[in-house]
Amino acid sequence: MAKQFFIGANWKMNTAPPGWDASDSAYAPTGNSEVVVFPSTLDLHRCMERKLRVGAQCGRPETAGAFTGDIAMQELKKIGCSYVLCGHSERRQHHHETDADIALQVQAALQNGLTPLLCIGENADQREMDETQEVLAEQLLRCASTKGMIIAYEPVWAIGTGKTPTPKEVRETHAFIRSVLKDKKTRILYGGSVTGENAAGFLAEKEIDGALVGGASLKPEEFRKIVEAAKA
Ligand code: PEP
Repeated sequence: MAKQFFIGANWKMNTAPPGWDASDSAYAPTGNSEVVVFPSTLDLHRCMERKLRVGAQCGRPETAGAFTGDIAMQELKKIGCSYVLCGHSERRQHHHETDADIALQVQAALQNGLTPLLCIGENADQREMDETQEVLAEQLLRCASTKGMIIAYEPVWAIGTGKTPTPKEVRETHAFIRSVLKDKKTRILYGGSVTGENAAGFLAEKEIDGALVGGASLKPEEFRKIVEAAKA
């Protein structure tokens, strides 16, 4: 049976790109891949109205309380989200989220029927010092659940920079991640400067189950090429 890829579009703090709601939208579900949009919270509802599959960019583990500006996992599920990003490097950097915070998010997501996409990855210094495996193992040990999640391997130095590891390097890293995970069937996505041009090379690797796309997901035709690469 052909593999079903997961292709995520992380729009970050940007408005929905032009044409996102067209009848032939690049973000619409396809038979071959699970295409999921992670819009800003304000756009979640209108994306769902257009029958796009959506996930949230973050969620708070507590059910309610004095957490100004946050949204509970429970509420995300209620409004129709299926997925939630946990531990994206931009949340770790700008909101100082720790592995302990992220572990609680992952647990809360699962308890509320959301699939967490746990983002892990080494930074440039850690890669330079050959510490990638150590960093990933620690992040997994501290944040991962045994079942029900998706991992997005996102080397921090590759996010939004146009630099990428080679598909072979990603394949080897994913094999390492899989060796650490208890559930060997967990899907492992690659994220970091994926484009319409390089997507096919990554998706051709057996160990790569899809892509989490930032910058290129804001350009509908570029994103369409990534979805097409998954079909090929
Ligand atoms: C991301 O932020 O998850 C990401 C992968 O961004 P980009 O594709 O722009 O590197």
